[in-house]
Amino acid sequence: MEHGKKMIACRNCDTLFQRPILTGRGDVAGCPRCGSTLYSSAARRINITSALTLAALITFLIAQACPILELVADGITSQTTLTGAIMVLWHENVQFVAALVFGLTILFPLTELVALLYVLIPIRAGYIPPGFNRVLRTIQRVRPWEMIEVFMLAVLVAMVKMLSLARVIPEIAFFAFGALTIMLAILVKFDLQALWELADRLSTDEPNCPTGGEPRTEALQARQPTAATAVIAQSSAANPKPISQYVTALRTGLVACNACAQLDPYKRSVKNQHCSRCEAVLHRRHPDSLRRTWALLIAAGLLYIPANLLPVMHTATLTDTQDNTIISGVIYFWTSGEWPLAVIVFVASIVVPILKISVLVLLLITARRRSSWRLRERTTLYRIIQSIGRWSMLDVFVVTLTVALVRFQPFAEVTAGPGVIAFGSVVILTLLAAKQFDPRLVWDAAES
Ligand SMILES: [Zn+2]
Ligand SMILES: [Zn+2]
Repeated sequence: MEHGKKMIACRNCDTLFQRPILTGRGDVAGCPRCGSTLYSSAARRINITSALTLAALITFLIAQACPILELVADGITSQTTLTGAIMVLWHENVQFVAALVFGLTILFPLTELVALLYVLIPIRAGYIPPGFNRVLRTIQRVRPWEMIEVFMLAVLVAMVKMLSLARVIPEIAFFAFGALTIMLAILVKFDLQALWELADRLSTDEPNCPTGGEPRTEALQARQPTAATAVIAQSSAANPKPISQYVTALRTGLVACNACAQLDPYKRSVKNQHCSRCEAVLHRRHPDSLRRTWALLIAAGLLYIPANLLPVMHTATLTDTQDNTIISGVIYFWTSGEWPLAVIVFVASIVVPILKISVLVLLLITARRRSSWRLRERTTLYRIIQSIGRWSMLDVFVVTLTVALVRFQPFAEVTAGPGVIAFGSVVILTLLAAKQFDPRLVWDAAES
C-alpha cells in the first residue's frame, strides 16, 4: 500500500505523479498534463487555520443573529435578518426557495465550520478525533454548496436596487457577512488532503513512540515536510511531456479515492471496494457519468424556459403592479444608469447558466465520441464552469432580500414569483450536472 502515499493521481485527467513535497506557504503542485491543481501545502498552516475557523464561526453567529439592512421610507422602517428573510419566503409559498437559501447560506457554512473545528483542534493537539474520516468527507461534500460570498454580492446588489425606493442603512450583519466572505475565501484554500496526511503521520507515530510521554505536537512538528522542490510544478514550465508518455492510474490498475486521494489497487472481484484509508466507496470513474449528466442537463434546459418567462417578483405600489422577470431586472438596472450592476446580474443570471449548459453538452458529446480534440482546453473549460457556476445563485438571493425588505404596505410591496423556483432549480441542476460529469473521461480518449 506504500505507493498509495507516495503517488497521486490527477483528479481531472487521472495521470499518476510522484507526490512532490511542498514546503513554502503558498506552494501549489499543478498537473502539467491538464493544468489542474494537484494539491497545495497546508500542513504548516494548521494553527492559523484553526484560529481562523473559530473566528469565522463567531462572525457567522453574529451575521445570523443581527439585521443585515434597514430601509427607511416615508417614516416607515423595515429591516431583516437572514433567517427573517427565509421565513418571509417560506410564508409566501416558495418553500423550495426558502429551503434552498437556508441550506446555502446557513446550514452548509455552519456544518463546514463546526466540522472543521471538530477535526482541526484534536489534530493540532496530536490525536485523531472519533469519526475523523466521516467528518472530513462531510466537509468535502458541503464545501461546494456554501455560498456566503455569492450572498454578500447579492446584499450589495439589493442595496443599490433599493436606493431608489428608500434610505438604505447597512446594519451589523452587513459588515459581519463582509468579514465572513474574506475569512471563508482564505479557509477554502486550505487543502483537506493535508489533514488526511497529518492523521496518517499521527497514526503511524503512535505504536512506536519511543518515550511514550513525548508531547505529540512536537512529533507532528518534527515531521513537517523537509526542503524539496515541487517537481511537478516546475516540470510543467520547463519541459511539458508529450501526452503519450503519461501513465494513468487506470492503466496501472490503481484507483484513486475521490475523498482522500489515496491510491489503492483496483480489485475487480470486490463489488463495492472501499478506500483503505478513509473507507469511501471507490470508483474508477463516476458511475454512469454521461447518462446522469445528460439527465440533469436536460431537466435544467427545460426549466430554463419558465425561469426566464415567469416573473421572479411582483411589485405592487399604490398606483400600479408590475411583474419582474430576470431580464426585466437587468433592463431596469441598465436604464436607471446602474450599468455595472446590469452587467453583473446579466452575466450571473443569463450568461453563466447558458455557458454551463453548452460547455457540458460539448463535453458530453466529445467524451461519448472518445474525441482526442483539444483535451487540455476542454479540461480548462470544465474547471471554469465548475468555479463560476455558483454565482448564478445571485438573483435568488437578491429576490430573497428584496421580498423581505420591501414591505411598506400599502405604499409598496414586493412578493416572490414562480420564476424564482424554476430559476433556483436550474442553478442547482447545472451544479449537480457538473459534479456528475467525470473529467477523466475526456482524457480516456488519449489512452486508446
Ligand atoms: Zn491532470
Ligand atoms: Zn479515501
